[in-house]
Amino acid sequence: MTSERSSRFIKVKGIVQGVGFRPFIFNLAEKFSLTGWVRNSSSGVEITVSGDAIGLDSFISEIRSAPPPLAHIDSLIATNVPWQEFAGFVIQTSLQENGARVPISPDMSICPDCQRELFDQADRRHRYPFINCTNCGPRFSIIKDIPYDRPKTTMAGFELCSNCRAEYENPRDRRFHAQPVACNECGPKVWFSVKCGTVSEKDEAITQTRAWLRAGKIVAIKGLGGFHLACDASNVQAVNALRERKKRSDKPFALMAFSVKIIRRYCEVSPEEEALLTSPQHPIVLLRQKYETNIAPEAAPGQNHLGFMLPYTPLHLLVLEPGEGYPDIFVMTSGNLSEEPVAYLDEEASRRLDPIADGFLMNDRPIHMRVDDSVARVCSGVPYLIRRSRGYAPQPITLPIPTRQILACGAELKNTFTLSVGQQAYVSHHIGDMENYETLSSFESGIEHYKNLFRITPEIIAADLHPDYLSSRYAMELAQRTALPIIRVQHHHAHMAACLADNGWDSTDPVIGLTFDGTGLGTDGVIWGGEVLVGGYSGFERRFHLSELPLPGGDASIRHPSRIALAYLAACGLDADTNLPPMQSLCSEERTILRSQIEHRINTPLTTSMGRLFDAVSALVGVRQTATYEGQAAIELENICDQQENAPYNIPIEKDVMLVRPLLEQILRDWSAGVANSTISARFHNGLAHLALEVCKQIRRNTSINTVALSGGVWQNMTLLAKTLALLNREGFTPLIHRQVPTNDGGISLGQVMIAHYQINQ
Ligand code: ZN
Ligand code: ZN
Ligand code: FE
Repeated sequence: MTSERSSRFIKVKGIVQGVGFRPFIFNLAEKFSLTGWVRNSSSGVEITVSGDAIGLDSFISEIRSAPPPLAHIDSLIATNVPWQEFAGFVIQTSLQENGARVPISPDMSICPDCQRELFDQADRRHRYPFINCTNCGPRFSIIKDIPYDRPKTTMAGFELCSNCRAEYENPRDRRFHAQPVACNECGPKVWFSVKCGTVSEKDEAITQTRAWLRAGKIVAIKGLGGFHLACDASNVQAVNALRERKKRSDKPFALMAFSVKIIRRYCEVSPEEEALLTSPQHPIVLLRQKYETNIAPEAAPGQNHLGFMLPYTPLHLLVLEPGEGYPDIFVMTSGNLSEEPVAYLDEEASRRLDPIADGFLMNDRPIHMRVDDSVARVCSGVPYLIRRSRGYAPQPITLPIPTRQILACGAELKNTFTLSVGQQAYVSHHIGDMENYETLSSFESGIEHYKNLFRITPEIIAADLHPDYLSSRYAMELAQRTALPIIRVQHHHAHMAACLADNGWDSTDPVIGLTFDGTGLGTDGVIWGGEVLVGGYSGFERRFHLSELPLPGGDASIRHPSRIALAYLAACGLDADTNLPPMQSLCSEERTILRSQIEHRINTPLTTSMGRLFDAVSALVGVRQTATYEGQAAIELENICDQQENAPYNIPIEKDVMLVRPLLEQILRDWSAGVANSTISARFHNGLAHLALEVCKQIRRNTSINTVALSGGVWQNMTLLAKTLALLNREGFTPLIHRQVPTNDGGISLGQVMIAHYQINQ
């Protein structure tokens, strides 16, 4: 060794605790013959190493290039320090400081090493349903408090056996300081029960679960962040029974299969989709369904995409392991009644799920935080999140600028909240639709948990403009109680800001916001949703919007596309033809009541919603008249879209209004002429894409703004998104779409944080 010997001090920030970072450093130091120490600190990991320069450089570059699978390095700073002599390399005990803030790893799917051991007869954890290591397993869902140590997790009650302890204490072991480490000897156990009586335990419980699933029964399975309801997805009776008992009429069920190979029997899986399915997060991935499969059609009625996930815990692998005559695909839907949050506590689950499930696969590892499965799809080769939850939350999103400590309460549907500090935004896991007491209380307890875990004391509160959202009411009461400033944020402004923050936009330059959405309260009292904004975090101007049309029954109308269609037609003076499908679906009495409701403006707010326009068109051509979940009519309209049809409907613009009436006229004309619905759907989608391009061009002409943020629930429509992106790119615009948070209302709280920060600092 001719190279010079020196010492360096290294600080690493990011998700570097509870993910096997210190043993990784320990082994890396040994590899390059370095001496010194590593320890956790208040803000990450600190390292001091001594050795020759080549070894030191390789050591640092390998930390950057090949960190442990669950680690996420935000920054690494290495400085030269005076030479220090060490006897060897040691892992020091944690520095514990008050006010410490360290990101917590999300729950991660079982790693390949653990999966191999699970099915290895020679391994001492062979078929142990809770096998895990530093690279995988539960994290966020079992943590009660920080620092992340076993006594502060729900594993506290399980004392390590001598074998597990030896692994836990050995820095050369994959299970060094893996807090949830356990085995058959000392860890949590499973049992199978019916009507509150235990029938079988351990491996027998798994065998029994499999036998019941095979026989077409519904089994509630306690998993990582809550309960699933499972049944054989190819068994029509089982799927129908589940639908009936769950009171969820049409919303598609999530599916689980043992391997990508099996999923390929049912869906097209691109390499990018495979990468997403097998990523450490293991989200539900929406995949294009193949024709003629044996999936019960009731599993996902009216869909041409299926939501599939791979088993993400050892327990799921054991339940799904392929076998002779054993089903290969399973419904794995969240364990709740429709609208309620997913059950996660044992007693609560047995009570709430008893009417639905025939049997229960239980275990005694408590879940501290309920976490739903995440949902994603692939858009132009990269992940596009529909629901950001398990595997993603609570990993912070890096904000483009440092903010004060802000609590943003989000919207009403698909609620998430965000707590921010500095450049970190802790966007919560999916809370759900804030329509009942259960969801509200899980929202409230979630906020308290995050405040405590991440040591955030909000100085500012942000909430939606809508006074009746439960999240807004919570925010107003909190502001009153604490005398903290509250910033009310217009819904679509929040969408636009969320998209900007999602893309790391750190500029005050204005952009164009194509916020095509369901509904949100506008600054003028009208229900907005088809808005073209110009602005940024600090403010916006509404440049274009769809025609204002009557929405009979307000928000309740999302269940009745036929009524929306009739109201729109009536308002445009196009309701003469009683043969139209929405007219046919309503009896004459209903039509009369509806007309007088519209005429006298009784509970009929005006709306410019793009989502409702989709509903109206879907009903108009007879695709769907009543919906059982938000967006159903629009999804089914998209699903029939003829991908070969390129002609667009013309949607004229008059001053600042994008006119709906001429659009409806063209649709009616095509419909009367017998043009196929698939063609009408395509022309509608094409028309909107061209409209989006046209408004952007008009704005660019006057302002030279070139950046376009696409946000709002309507952009979950991949057909419209692809067509719009193609046109914008062709004309030299720079479109920004969501990457880290959903384009739907799940992203709202992130946008609220940025807007509140700018408002308070103005
Ligand atoms: Zn593992
Ligand atoms: Zn053990
Ligand atoms: Fe929205």
